[in-house]
Amino acid sequence: MTQQPDCLFCGIVAGTVPSTQVDEDERTLTFMDINPGTDGHALVIPKAHARDLYDIDPGDLAACSVTAQRVAGRAVRQLGADGVNLINCAGEAAWQTVFHFHLHVVPRYRDDQARDSLRLPWTPTPGDPARIAAAADLLRAAG
Ligand code: 5GP
Ligand code: ZN
Repeated sequence: MTQQPDCLFCGIVAGTVPSTQVDEDERTLTFMDINPGTDGHALVIPKAHARDLYDIDPGDLAACSVTAQRVAGRAVRQLGADGVNLINCAGEAAWQTVFHFHLHVVPRYRDDQARDSLRLPWTPTPGDPARIAAAADLLRAAG
């Protein structure tokens, strides 16, 4: 298993950094976030170090997604969540602060301010069609 010295989440995988674990399989580990956005906020990581979304092995990414689905189901059934957000921050500009890939599994509770005070970080507003089309053209192009 590829680990990186000085990586916080590699330390959690190695057991040298304490964590509250809730799930483990061959490729992934899931533990509770120490700054939870809502009740039950957990982090799914690959055991093998990968810096971010662009760096992670596709098989590990798939394994993290399957684990996130499993943990999200438990949040609904066992915590009584009404919904779940899966969040990944890829890069500093996207709010990534720990550079070992992780999926946030964030249970959501309708009308329960004590368990969930999250709000959308943007106000949905119709976009300029020309800018949408221009971005779509670039996204379709081979990189
Ligand atoms: P990011 O901002 O990179 O998307 O998310 C990093 C997450 O890791 C944050 O939500 C933060 O609260 C969490 N975190 C940071 N340090 C630790 C730690 O030592 N243990 C645990 N369990 N979570 C941590
Ligand atoms: Zn790491």
